[in-house]
Amino acid sequence: MSGITEAAGLGELGGLKKSPHMPVLFLGHGSPMNAIEDNEYRRSWQALGAQFGKQLPQPQLILCISAHWLTQGWWLTGMDKPKTIHDFGGFPQELFDQQYPAPGAPAAAQAISRAIKQPPVGLDKDGWGLDHGTWSVLKPMFPKANIPVLQLSMDYARPPAEHFALGQQLKGLRERGVLIVGSGNIVHNLRATRRGTPANQAYDWAIEFDSKVAAQMEKGDLAALADFQRLGPVAQLAHPTHDHYLPLLYAAGAVDPKEPLRFFNDSYQSASISMRSAIWG
Ligand code: ZN
Repeated sequence: MSGITEAAGLGELGGLKKSPHMPVLFLGHGSPMNAIEDNEYRRSWQALGAQFGKQLPQPQLILCISAHWLTQGWWLTGMDKPKTIHDFGGFPQELFDQQYPAPGAPAAAQAISRAIKQPPVGLDKDGWGLDHGTWSVLKPMFPKANIPVLQLSMDYARPPAEHFALGQQLKGLRERGVLIVGSGNIVHNLRATRRGTPANQAYDWAIEFDSKVAAQMEKGDLAALADFQRLGPVAQLAHPTHDHYLPLLYAAGAVDPKEPLRFFNDSYQSASISMRSAIWG
């Protein structure tokens, strides 16, 4: 059922103890400014984060798959203190001043990378850290930055189905206190942004693609999400490059199709970015 916990046996996995079943999140992150602006998205992240340790189980570790770490092969952050990466330009100094000093979890990273047999997942000791796909959402959710965070990269050259298949292997981590977070956007076309468009308005193609993906998710037709390019021209418009779509496949891979799903933030930024987010479990 769950590649990782089978491989690791019943013992502890890099210090991660058995836990209540953790939910899985897919978060639309949108503009980096959402990290510091008081808006509906940031407020929703703050409210969601506040539920952990109360209505939702407290995570021992957060594993984030961000749209912004694309690599050759797959890598997992393996350092003690991942640095905060400001991987954007043209934003106010306040955004560059943001830090998210959450610790890493080298022992857990090593155990997870060993447990995943295919594809090989290497340990990144000092190259990456936490990019804004990760910290812009985690900082509002968990402002104390006291839960260790790992980032898993994505090999953009590999077909979407392989990303889904890797997500499936992460499923067992949910019984070890790991909160899996995919951070991207279900529609993401930066060439078509129209600033100032109200959040309930978007291009027709954006609404069509977002609705079709949402319907597949609601049906539990999760493996089919990897075939998004079959949706034709609207898929090409929604994702001129599909880096922001791929994190959804990791989240969807890590859930059971029958698990309860709840959407939130189902609106748009700048007419061409869907902020639709999901929590399963
Ligand atoms: Zn992004």
